[in-house]
Amino acid sequence: MPELPEVQTIVSDLAPLLPGLSVVRASYVGKLGQELLRKSRVDLALSLPGKKVTAVRRLAKQVVMDLDSGEYLIFHLKITGRLLLRNEEDVPDEFTRLIIELSGGSSSAKAPSFAKASDDKPEDKRELRFTDRNGFADAYLVTNTELDQVAGKYGLEALDEKLTVARFYELILGSTEPTVKETLLNQKIISGVGNIYADEALFLAKIHPTVRSKQVTEEQAERLLAAVRQVLNEGLRDRGTTIDSYVDPFGNPGKHQENLRVYGRSGKSCLVCGATIEYTEVGGRRTFFCPQCQSLPQLSLF
Ligand SMILES: [Zn+2]
Repeated sequence: MPELPEVQTIVSDLAPLLPGLSVVRASYVGKLGQELLRKSRVDLALSLPGKKVTAVRRLAKQVVMDLDSGEYLIFHLKITGRLLLRNEEDVPDEFTRLIIELSGGSSSAKAPSFAKASDDKPEDKRELRFTDRNGFADAYLVTNTELDQVAGKYGLEALDEKLTVARFYELILGSTEPTVKETLLNQKIISGVGNIYADEALFLAKIHPTVRSKQVTEEQAERLLAAVRQVLNEGLRDRGTTIDSYVDPFGNPGKHQENLRVYGRSGKSCLVCGATIEYTEVGGRRTFFCPQCQSLPQLSLF
């Protein structure tokens, strides 16, 4: 499931390439495309053509494209969504639901020339393909006000400097989520930390995932915020974690799965102390931890 580092990698890759390109056509593909259309608030095939992309950015775990119409095209990849930038003649991608044909950009800056067939270079005809295996991903168009409403659903970003240790500690203590891991995962409280990076951060900070939110100490909160930032930055450096389906816009997987410290390692030895990594579920989410490095304080056992 793409989390902050994966979505940011997609955004960083697309941001230098898409602005200036205009939508020539948008089409929903086959049955999978019809499923996506049914979820859409606006029919993208009707509303996108002629509009130009002016910026690409990230809002929590969503990719946002600013359009010159004043609207915003949002892609929420959810679990298995992918946003691929291909050339028109590239082989079809599996599970494609929507194709957005783009043209313009560098070619429009060129001096007018006598049109030849060879002038129509493939790099000037790009396709943004939105694919999704399991059907939870979403693509939709919103107004400025609606974008603000979407943004309002999220708490401060984990990497935002405005999130101080004091504020972070306050948010944890004030959380209605029973455990520290569930607090980290609640995007309304702090946004950007998903399941994999939550486990990684708790391991690094030596905090058991089921510690009660109200029992987290200030010192633990300080360690945890530093750990959250470290694992997110490592994920960014490695261009994301590919466990199931995440790939960048060019179809390449991330590398951070090779550098995970605890996630997915149940039954294996802890890289720090050698104890056996354990698996449990917290708030219904897969959870990995080291029983020795992340021992549960007596206090939380009641
Ligand atoms: Zn350990």
